[in-house]
Amino acid sequence: MATGTIWFVGAGPGDPDLITVKGRRLLEQAGAILFAGSLVDQAATLYAPQSCAIRDSKDMTLEQMGAWLIDAAARSETVVRLQTGDPGLYGALVEMTRLLDAANVPWKVVPGVSSALAAAAAAGETLTLPEVTQTVILTRVAGRTPMPRGEELDALAAHHTTLCIFLSITLLHEVQDALRRAGWAEDAPMLVVHKASWPDEEKVVRGTLADIKKKCQAEKIASQAMIIASPALGARDWPEIARSKLYDPAFSHRFRRASTETTS
Ligand code: SAH
Repeated sequence: MATGTIWFVGAGPGDPDLITVKGRRLLEQAGAILFAGSLVDQAATLYAPQSCAIRDSKDMTLEQMGAWLIDAAARSETVVRLQTGDPGLYGALVEMTRLLDAANVPWKVVPGVSSALAAAAAAGETLTLPEVTQTVILTRVAGRTPMPRGEELDALAAHHTTLCIFLSITLLHEVQDALRRAGWAEDAPMLVVHKASWPDEEKVVRGTLADIKKKCQAEKIASQAMIIASPALGARDWPEIARSKLYDPAFSHRFRRASTETTS
């Protein structure tokens, strides 16, 4: 009978330093770790105890993964399913947890730094900017997984907010077509980050709707990349931006009283 708990742990985008303290602590006490592909093996091997059973899930079906985890939980108090970024984004979380619920095995989730956030950080960009965009859409284009009705990229792009596009680098031409259909200008800034946060392997490619694909081809980026389209991209170099109200001297909030003087 199962005795342990299965923890779905977000490993973060790749740099093993970007796992949460809680995630690392669980790896350090894990009796078994099932990790998802090459993006997270570093954290697993760095932090796991010597006696830990470590397995890559890349050649396993969902049922095989479920069986492996349930079997491990029968022998270990702490079993980790280690996933890239955050487990709640494109991580097949519910497919797995339904199997565990059916087998009466307890499970919990530890969030992680998503690659969307790591990509913005790598480029020193903000995803929200006052009076420019206050909304971030995390999405993808249809691959083998179809998009639900109303979530086609051109429909989402029509909002002209920040778009973080996962799993779509090989379909970059479709991303471009969708943005064009939604009325984005040819010189709209775009960003592609390959292996965000990976020491020595990260690539940051800045371009426009017109040239981003050529630039990615020149850099030979064909996988593990985040595409960001946003009216806020490049704002750090704009001559002027609207100030955030939070730090505006004329704006009071719970922790600070407005000053009567204004600063430039
Ligand atoms: N749960 C993950 C996403 C898994 S889907 C997260 O929250 O980040 C896999 C996709 O995530 C890839 O196709 C790519 O678009 C993106 N991705 C994952 N790691 C990445 C990284 N280090 N740099 C850029 N994109 C990454």
